[in-house]
Amino acid sequence: MQVLAPPGPLAISPLEPRPLEPEPLEAKPRPTATHCPYCSMQCGMNLARSESAAQGEAGPGWEVQPRQFPTNKGGLCRKGWTSAELLDHPERLTSPLLRRAKDEPLRESSWDEALDFIAAKIQAIQREHGRDKVAVFGGGGLTNEKAYWLGKFARVALQTPNIDYNGRFCMSSAASANMLAFGLDRGLPFPMSDIARADAILLVGSNVAETMPPVMQYFEAQRGEGGQLIVVDPRRTPTAASATLHLQGTPGSDLALANGLLHIAISKGYLNHNFIRSRTTGWDEARRVAASYWPDRVEAITGVSVAKMEAAVKYLHEARRALILTARGAEQQSKGTETVLAFINLALALGKSGREGSGYGTLTGQGNGQGGREHGQKCDQLPGYRKIENPEHRAFIAHIWGIDEADLPRAGKPAFELLSTLGTPEGARALLVMGSNVAVSTPKALLIQDRLRALELLVVADLFLSETAELADVVLPTTQWAEEDGTMTNFEGRVLRRRKAKDAPEGVKSDLQVLALLAARLGKRFHFSDPTPRAVWNELRRATEGGAADYSGISYERIDRDEGVFWPCPARVEGHEQPDTPRLFLDRFATDDGRARFHAVAHRPAGEEPDQEFPLFLTTGRVMGHYQSGTQTRRVQSLSRERPRAFVELNPALAQAHGIADGEMVRVQSRRGAGEFEARVTATIRRDTLFIPFHWGGAQCANVLTNPELDPISKMPEFKLCAAKIEKFTTDDHEEPPRIAEGS
Ligand code: SF4
Repeated sequence: MQVLAPPGPLAISPLEPRPLEPEPLEAKPRPTATHCPYCSMQCGMNLARSESAAQGEAGPGWEVQPRQFPTNKGGLCRKGWTSAELLDHPERLTSPLLRRAKDEPLRESSWDEALDFIAAKIQAIQREHGRDKVAVFGGGGLTNEKAYWLGKFARVALQTPNIDYNGRFCMSSAASANMLAFGLDRGLPFPMSDIARADAILLVGSNVAETMPPVMQYFEAQRGEGGQLIVVDPRRTPTAASATLHLQGTPGSDLALANGLLHIAISKGYLNHNFIRSRTTGWDEARRVAASYWPDRVEAITGVSVAKMEAAVKYLHEARRALILTARGAEQQSKGTETVLAFINLALALGKSGREGSGYGTLTGQGNGQGGREHGQKCDQLPGYRKIENPEHRAFIAHIWGIDEADLPRAGKPAFELLSTLGTPEGARALLVMGSNVAVSTPKALLIQDRLRALELLVVADLFLSETAELADVVLPTTQWAEEDGTMTNFEGRVLRRRKAKDAPEGVKSDLQVLALLAARLGKRFHFSDPTPRAVWNELRRATEGGAADYSGISYERIDRDEGVFWPCPARVEGHEQPDTPRLFLDRFATDDGRARFHAVAHRPAGEEPDQEFPLFLTTGRVMGHYQSGTQTRRVQSLSRERPRAFVELNPALAQAHGIADGEMVRVQSRRGAGEFEARVTATIRRDTLFIPFHWGGAQCANVLTNPELDPISKMPEFKLCAAKIEKFTTDDHEEPPRIAEGS
């Protein structure tokens, strides 16, 4: 479309007749510089009115355009390119939905009716049963502003200790390990550009080529410069196929592998004694435990050959700059925290930490998985990574919030414990869910769906009628990414601006407005008086000042100017702008004595290992075209056309043994339930392992099968492995897959 410039002063004399001109076209508004709504890479993109919309023609109203941003450098994956399809989606909720009795259908209501109903129910439940009987569940996709206000809403407006969020199911094991080893938890303690400069990288349990394709440019650059990439994964994923070495270990054996690699490093004389002596503590105990992980024993546990293990350690040892990165494969285990600690031990022993170009990091998953866990959505945490049981931290936050410290609740229940007790005598009777689809994304999903149905009040704020919203008593339609301002923190700890590009449809409110309106009805209007993102952001900055995750020096303007700001970034001191922190731990770690901590950690079996009845490992994960529970991406036509349903990957030998052909429908069953999946026969997976992506609900819900065995430290459920069996499916067997009784 032609954009007409305004005439300059000499363009036309006022005495001359004006030449005939075409009808002036409305100048096309500038595209809005923002970020993808999905994963933690938070790729920069521009969002613009589409040509067809600008011409008043039928077609998509908005289009995504490339944007040169320091992280993705113009690249986006198919989820990012198609994300604008959701902006005018016909299934978008634009009115609150309400049912006053459980046997009624949801019907449209006014905002006043819905909010009055919620407030009255909450007040009645709290009056009769106690404040802790109302719970809140947040999401790792919420902006920092929303995450912060949701935590404050739970503690100030509801005065309940029971708030947690789905980030507990994402990277909480790495977060716990980071805190234990380094005294601070930031996904990468270095910019992602360090990946391209590394001489060797050990990547454990991540398929970035499919889950985060734009980050592959860094791995490709690293390989192009002769760097070595070692991938640990039970599947030969596209990421593993691109590696120098693929260690295709048994699911759940990563901790043993890490200890085995450390054992080899000790026996080969690869240790950096100077680093161990000067910058760490706890080495003797870690060394003692590693001594019992001799290579043959580890080969027997993991299935990874001694030769491959030796080659991997040699690459890391010889690298001037080496990175060890973990992700969900290593972390979503009932020993996830200890598994990550074992890999941190290896990094520390080799001296590949705490200096430029070398370090340990985790690749977080959800869009604001990082920021979402720093500002108070976790049940034991206050903004700025403050701890809810620390008296000084409590006093500081109580002061910021204008409440008595005695009125600030203590720690509540972590995610699975909170969700699995809903509607029971020990659990909450009401739940507010914001930005999460727990009916699909929680392990033992059938039990969780039953627990949601047992609530006296379930309120869900969402864009679409997700599987969780379908079970709700009240559904509140809220804004989506392009309709709101705010900030997100990517997996490097870089704080970014999400910018509003368009108005929300009529009838929709922002999550911040919803919280303010509810708080007012609960008698807490004063504490939630300004629901604009900038006002909440400035309050968050004050609340994080002096905390481990200090955002006080990060203004919206500074984010714009610097294209993202790495926390910690304290406020101005004596008029001087404080620098941000792209690299952590260069001089000291964030522990009291500045030293990193080794931890003596031993391998143990998973919560559930294959046996005679359920002879296979089942592991779960993501595919390229979908995101999390699929509430959004399943509604993007091009993505759902390409991948309309879940599938199960199995090895040709296993398929042959069961007489299963590629493309056939099969039943996969665990002790918790069963589902129907299309068989995908591939030699890229081990013979003893099945893989199912977790983006679907109903009969294709992978989390009906998964095991909620919890990591004792992080409370992460064991999503990554359980015991299962597979069989041919015939429609004569059952119309519905068998439901497994609660508690079985
Ligand atoms: Fe969006 Fe993640 Fe894809 Fe980037 S990699 S476009 S942030 S989904």
